[in-house]
Amino acid sequence: MTGHTDAAGADDATGTAPPAVSLSGVGKRYERGGEVVRALDDVSLDLPRGSYTAVMGPSGSGKSTLMNLVGCLDTPTAGTVLVDGEDVSELSDDGRARIRGRKVGFVFQTFNLMPRLSARENVALPLVFRGVDRADRLERADELLARVGLADRTDHRPNELSGGQRQRVAIARALANDPAIVLADEPTGNLDAETGRAILGEFERLHEAGTTVLLVSHERHVAEHAERIVHLRDGEIEGIEDIEERRRAAVAENAAMPDSGREMGDERDDRGGGGADGDAPGSVDAQDGSEGSSSGTGGDR
Ligand code: ADP
Ligand code: MG
Repeated sequence: MTGHTDAAGADDATGTAPPAVSLSGVGKRYERGGEVVRALDDVSLDLPRGSYTAVMGPSGSGKSTLMNLVGCLDTPTAGTVLVDGEDVSELSDDGRARIRGRKVGFVFQTFNLMPRLSARENVALPLVFRGVDRADRLERADELLARVGLADRTDHRPNELSGGQRQRVAIARALANDPAIVLADEPTGNLDAETGRAILGEFERLHEAGTTVLLVSHERHVAEHAERIVHLRDGEIEGIEDIEERRRAAVAENAAMPDSGREMGDERDDRGGGGADGDAPGSVDAQDGSEGSSSGTGGDR
């Protein structure tokens, strides 16, 4: 959903819903045998409601730490984390668990499913902690599995499913509590390219339905599915790229030249071979490496 108004309208916060997540001056230090690791340093960032944000950065740059703070799995050592306007920085473990259970859905690189449970039971599990009764849990789980295309796999255990199917189960599970925010840490990291694209399609749909999505990836082509990319380095925000703006500009440019779009499309079909990706209208991939890029492709990967 791209219904965000321009920033000019946002200066008076009175009566306006707070961002889904707001980090201000957030730091996280770990101490290990006398040595201090600054995993995050003075990070300030808002995730507007319904926004789709990717976080990129090399290994060790603080991506997972950031994710864990946003998801209330951990507390910062400096600054504040607001989730839905509520300060979660100093909540007890129980307090954070409560927020997590209500507002956050997690998807991990390694799927993290319970091996002995069926897909249906895995998806229903978070609802146990919310006191939903069994029949309703299972019905809800079946609904969610159908939504991610697994209606015919509800009784399978994780080891009877492919990687992509497991990740779909994990997504369905993340949605069980109808979270306002979905956090995904390298969700396509263990999947082949095509399966990864399909999984990204699931996040796209969540975004279109109004869910706030935060996705961590070290791969640029994955991160480019988001509206913007936050670049982390050594625990600090190095820069924020507005992908959505670029996409809009590309669409506008295309609209100004009605014929060229069709020709380019044909050409791409010929070249691409397996043109299976009809799922990303206005995808940035299509104009990657265009003449407009600022300084070559050096920063990629
Ligand atoms: P990324 O996800 O970008 O690879 P992380 O957020 O996992 O990075 O880690 C950031 C830094 O914090 C790294 O230097 C890592 O070694 C350190 N770190 C992460 N978790 C811990 C921990 N529990 N104890 C000590 N150091 C940690
Ligand atoms: Mg990580």
